[in-house]
Formats: sequence, C-alpha cells, structure tokens
Amino acid sequence: MAVCECGKEKVQVFDYGAIEMQDGAFKRSFAECYRYYMGISVDDMLYELRKKFKIANAEGAKTLAGEKGSWFGLGGNVLGQWLQAYARFYAVTGEEAAKDKADAMIAGFKQIMEIDSEIGDGLFMYFFEKYLRGFVDCFVYCKNEDALVLADRFVDAAMRSPVYCNAKRRLGDNGTPPVPVEIEWYTIAESLYFYADVKQAYGKDGERAEKVRKFAKEFEYRQFWDIVYRGENIFNYSPISGQNTAYFHSYSHLNSFNSAAYAYKDTQDPYYLEIVKKFYAYMREKQELITGGYGAHLEWLMPITGQINAIENFHDSFETQCCSYAVYRLSEWLMEFTGEGGYGNWPEKLLYNATLASIPMDEAGHVQYYSDLNVGHACKFLHENTWTCCTGTRPLLMCELSRFVYLHSETGLYVNLFVPSAVEYGGLRVRMESEYPREQTVFLHIEASDGREREIYFRIPEHAKRVQLAINGKAASYIRQNGWLGVRGVFREGDVLQYTAESVPEWDRLECMGEGVVGLRCGAVVLATESPVEEVKGCLNFEEEAAPQLIRTEGLTFRAKSGKVVFSPYMDYPKGKNYHVYFRYGRGY
Ligand SMILES: [Zn+2]
Repeated sequence: MAVCECGKEKVQVFDYGAIEMQDGAFKRSFAECYRYYMGISVDDMLYELRKKFKIANAEGAKTLAGEKGSWFGLGGNVLGQWLQAYARFYAVTGEEAAKDKADAMIAGFKQIMEIDSEIGDGLFMYFFEKYLRGFVDCFVYCKNEDALVLADRFVDAAMRSPVYCNAKRRLGDNGTPPVPVEIEWYTIAESLYFYADVKQAYGKDGERAEKVRKFAKEFEYRQFWDIVYRGENIFNYSPISGQNTAYFHSYSHLNSFNSAAYAYKDTQDPYYLEIVKKFYAYMREKQELITGGYGAHLEWLMPITGQINAIENFHDSFETQCCSYAVYRLSEWLMEFTGEGGYGNWPEKLLYNATLASIPMDEAGHVQYYSDLNVGHACKFLHENTWTCCTGTRPLLMCELSRFVYLHSETGLYVNLFVPSAVEYGGLRVRMESEYPREQTVFLHIEASDGREREIYFRIPEHAKRVQLAINGKAASYIRQNGWLGVRGVFREGDVLQYTAESVPEWDRLECMGEGVVGLRCGAVVLATESPVEEVKGCLNFEEEAAPQLIRTEGLTFRAKSGKVVFSPYMDYPKGKNYHVYFRYGRGY
C-alpha cells in the first residue's frame, strides 16, 4: 500500500478523461467552454505573430487584436495557455478535433520558431512558462513529437539568455523597466520541473533533465517562501519592484506555491510541504472573501482593513478565472500529499461562486475577469479588454475540475465534489446522481463491482451542520477521518449510497474592531439579494444568527421572516443584473 509522509494511505487525483461528466450545471458549463474555444480559428490566433515574422497569413484569417488593437491575444499571455487547453481538452474528451487544434498550433509555432526561437516576446518570463507547459502538454497528451522539440529549443533559448542567467529576482518583482521581461518570474519553476520530468520519463535525456532542474531551482521564490516559512507577517515586507508595489500580487504569489508543491513531489523536502500548507492556511484565514475569492482590489493581498475598504469602494474584487485555477491546482497537490478531505472545501466554494457563477464570454474575447462584491451596487460584467489572461485560464480550470470530482487510493474511492458524473476504478464503477447544492442529498449508484472489499468516502463540507450516510436506505456505520466520511465493505451492483450534508444560512464576515462587511452564505454557496440595503437592514439583524431569521422557500432561496427580502444564489445572477452580496456594518452604518 502506498502511503504518504504522515502514514495515511496515498490519495491520488485521476488523469484527465477518467471521469465522465453527466447532465448538470458543470457539464453544461464545460460544454459551453469547449464549444467556445473550439470555435477559435488557429489561423486567427497566429495572425499577428505571422504578420510580425512576415509569414503569409491564411486566406480569410483575421486578427484577434480586437477593437483596441492591444497586445492582448497576440502572444504569450494566452497562446501558451491555449496550447495547454487544447491538449487537455483532447485528454478529457478524446475528441480528435481538439487534438487537431493542438497539432495545428504546434505546426504554426514550428514555422515561427524557425525564424525566431524566442517567438518574439516569448521569453517574457510570464509568457515563457505558459508556452513551455503548452509545448510539453502537446507532447504528453497529443503525442506530438514536434512539440517536445519546440520545448527543447525554447528552454535552450532561456538557458542561454543573459536576462535569465542574470535575472534580478527581487521580492515581488512584477516586471519593471529596464527589465520588464522579468514579469512574474516567480511562477516559472513549475513548468521547468514538469519539462525535466517528462524528458526523463520518456527516456529522452536524463542528463539534460538534471541541468534543467538546476536552472529551475534558481527561479524558486525563496525570497517570499522564507517569509512564510518563518511564520512572519507578509505585510512587514513590500514588493521591491514592479507595478503596484504597495502589496504583493495575489495570483502570482499563490501560484508560486504550485512550484513549491512540484518541488516537493520531486524531492520530498519537508520545507516545501511546510510552506505550501502554511500559505494555504493563511490565505483561507486572512485573505479569503465570502465567495472563496481573494485579492480584493488591484489583485493585491491586503490587510483586513484594506479588504474592507476595497469592498466598499471598488468593483475589482477577485481575478476570477486565473485565481480560481491556481487554487484548484494547489488544492489537488495538497490533497495528494496529505490525504486531507479539507483541501476540497476551498475549491468547492470557487466551483459555485466563481466557475459556475461566471457569465459566458462574448464572441469578441471578453471574459468575466473580475467578480464584483461592492457593497453599494454590484453586477457581473465582462472585462473591457479582449483575450486577457483569464481567457487563458478559463478552459484550463474546466479541465482541472473535471478530474477533481473523485480521487482514489489503492483500496478506496473518494468523492470530493458532488457533481453528476461516473467513474470506473479498480473493478468498481459508480455513478453520482446529484442536485447538490440545491438539494442536500447525493446518490452514489454502484453500477459494477468485482466484489472486493473497499472503502468509499465522501468529503465532509466544512460548513455542514450534519452529515449522514445510508446504504440502500439503511443508516450505515461509517468511518470519519481526515475530513472524510466513509464506509468499508463489499459493494455490489445495484447498491446505492445516500450521502446527506445539511447546511443552513450563515453570516460570513470581514471584520476589524467590530466593523466591516457581512454577507450570507448557505454551505459553500453565496446568497445575494436585489433588495435595497435599507430594506435588508430593516428585516435582518446581522448581529444575530442568520438561519432563524430566514425561511427556505425552495432549493437555495430564502425569504426573511419579517419582510419581503429574498436571497438566492449569487451564481444564478445574469450579466448586468444588480445584487448585494456584502453589506457594511458597524459604527455609523
Ligand atoms: Zn487572469
């Protein structure tokens, strides 16, 4: 039996494509995302790069530069992530059309890289790791041999680049003249480690793999990680260079820990696990908003007073797609390293309040980049720029969630997200029937079994007031451990496991010295209202428990007992419709 560092049985994430989605909100959302990205022409994607390198553009091809003609969509801020997206779409769906897109992009890049191995501005550090991961993904998932050759050449270009060899690597360096190339340098290591592992695993070049790992290690973000390791307050430090230097940039600082997690996987050095766990706990305790979002203004990590102020005054409350993607991945790592079900709680919040709550992209390439939690007036809106970074991560997070529904160990199956789906693993096939979170019970149908004894676990949602497990309608004697509720036994075809997790509406606060902002949440799901603030304050008392003041009318809709105020899931609000999620309270409010 494989065990992890703490002696528990090793829990593992499934490969892309192992889990089959069934009808429900997630499957619809995934399908819409897939349709959207499959509709983008590779000739359009490469239009600006081909023009730049004087390669004839295909007939009928058009620029994606958009009405502003900005650099968005023209290069590495999205193209590298799209390479990853098509490769993973293929791995998830098995659709040849997705592989064709990935292969066509690789053919296009091959032609461009014969002219310029750096793809113009591809060595911008923020772009570099995305292109590199894209090339390696196309090799791994689409078996495109050219893609690995491009990865080799790209890594060579970086390793001989004076900018890379002499990078300043300053604390919180978000790219400053005269070396704007060093933008978000601290997210690089992971892609290089992945490349090195693939080189070695496929027997391509072990010696090179070691060299690359050494190079990658130089880009580990010790300057920040050590602050976390020592348990110091990060606000004792300020970013030393870059744009917006008052505070650290939220996405890239959290994402740097995905590099630390990768390093832990490779080395088992406890330093890495320690900092990943510590920073994750810090983010949940000190930075997380009611939706699971973070970086309440200007994408900054801020002290609590700054967060409250931001919710009162600004509308850029959370960089929705990129920041969710980073959390999904970090949570996968932590669940694998520790086996703790608790690492599924943050992803669950983001699934309902960010991923499924996002309004659809428009055909011009505008995405819901920010979530708006402003206390005065808030609504969902698309970012004014086309093809922002969040159009790069949207398809990636869909692929990631599609494999994070279940996990497995040698003798167990773990239900993490309660999304309608089916999976086959080690002689067992199950199908999950679920209207969760609108209904509190999910049904796991055993569709095939080899008759071996095993365990099936369900994650205990952090805000659940009561959890219950029954088999074929009878209460089961269960095991409760590491954030999971499970049962051991021999399961047979036709058996049904019935799991109930009950939640009630609760206040969720950002508070300092008795004042702040407060919102309403039922379990992981944020509730919003259209009613004017004064009316809400007139019939609900924020100082007293929320549940006794509300009546559940249906699913996740609640009405105030005294008054007409109705709260319903924030995720259901369409584009442009006003809502209140947070309310200011305290002295003078
Ligand atoms: Zn983004």
